[in-house]
Amino acid sequence: MLTMRNSLRIIVSDVDDTLADVYEPASENIISGLNAMLERGKRFFFISGQGEQNICERIVRRLHPIYRNQILLGTCSGAEVWGFSDGKLAEAPFYSMYEDKFTEEMKREWREILRGIIDDFGFLVLETMPRDRFAEVSGGDPKIIMYEDRRAQITFEVVNGCNLNDEQYGYFKERVPYLLPDRDLRVSIIRHANELFEKKNIPITARAAGTFAVDFAVKGVTKTTAIEAIMYHGKAAGYWENIPSKEEMPLTLEIWGDKFSTVNGGTDTHMCEAFPHDVRAIDFREEPKGELPERFNVVLWDGEQHLCKGTEEYMKRSGVIQ
Ligand SMILES: [Mg+2]
Repeated sequence: MLTMRNSLRIIVSDVDDTLADVYEPASENIISGLNAMLERGKRFFFISGQGEQNICERIVRRLHPIYRNQILLGTCSGAEVWGFSDGKLAEAPFYSMYEDKFTEEMKREWREILRGIIDDFGFLVLETMPRDRFAEVSGGDPKIIMYEDRRAQITFEVVNGCNLNDEQYGYFKERVPYLLPDRDLRVSIIRHANELFEKKNIPITARAAGTFAVDFAVKGVTKTTAIEAIMYHGKAAGYWENIPSKEEMPLTLEIWGDKFSTVNGGTDTHMCEAFPHDVRAIDFREEPKGELPERFNVVLWDGEQHLCKGTEEYMKRSGVIQ
């Protein structure tokens, strides 16, 4: 039975589906658990494709302000890392591959390209919202997508456009000259966007993410590079001191996530890449054991429930919450 070790000092955790449902706030239990662990001096490095405002809204603003300097946010898939000062989000990130790589001109051009693609497809763009609510509002129409500008990353949620029927495909075929035969619109969006970024020399990569998203993220950036910048290259020196040595990490550090399967892209594996390979990672999704990457110490959560509910169960079993 998996339980939390007393020697644990740092938890490196994914956010969506590990700590909170996508576009939903974290549950009361998760918040109580995080607060209890912060009180005991544990530190958290939240790593996510989301932006800093989103993670603050859904999680951090409900955590004790006095312990917020025990928290780091790795945002936009690792493009930036943020900390807190006097309980508030710091004014600037410790590390930003976005600000380092992008001129104002590039920031503008990138957004123009995406507006062009939205026009080409005739998409109606809505703000992000929980899946159930979007299903209600969009009624399954693939022309309706969610759009979020996270500053260092932009995301399209092509919820209804990943498996088109003949009629829907015909609609897009008539209006989009570069539509590929694939019934998942993301394939055409990604290919076309990457061609345009390359032509204009903009260091952004379009890639499929989650179950129905397209992420437009800073090129060459991963969750691994963000973690390494902090843990080994002193990018948050003065904020987080006494980072455990690599020898100490297997006993003092743990990774939480929900996507490690090598078949499904396994984006949470990027967190493992940054640490000695025997550091334990818990997979809170029910993924087939045979699909887990062998070179890391990824273990499947062995409780009754999974995803965020599994994380709650882990906190309960370990005596963190009642
Ligand atoms: Mg996740």
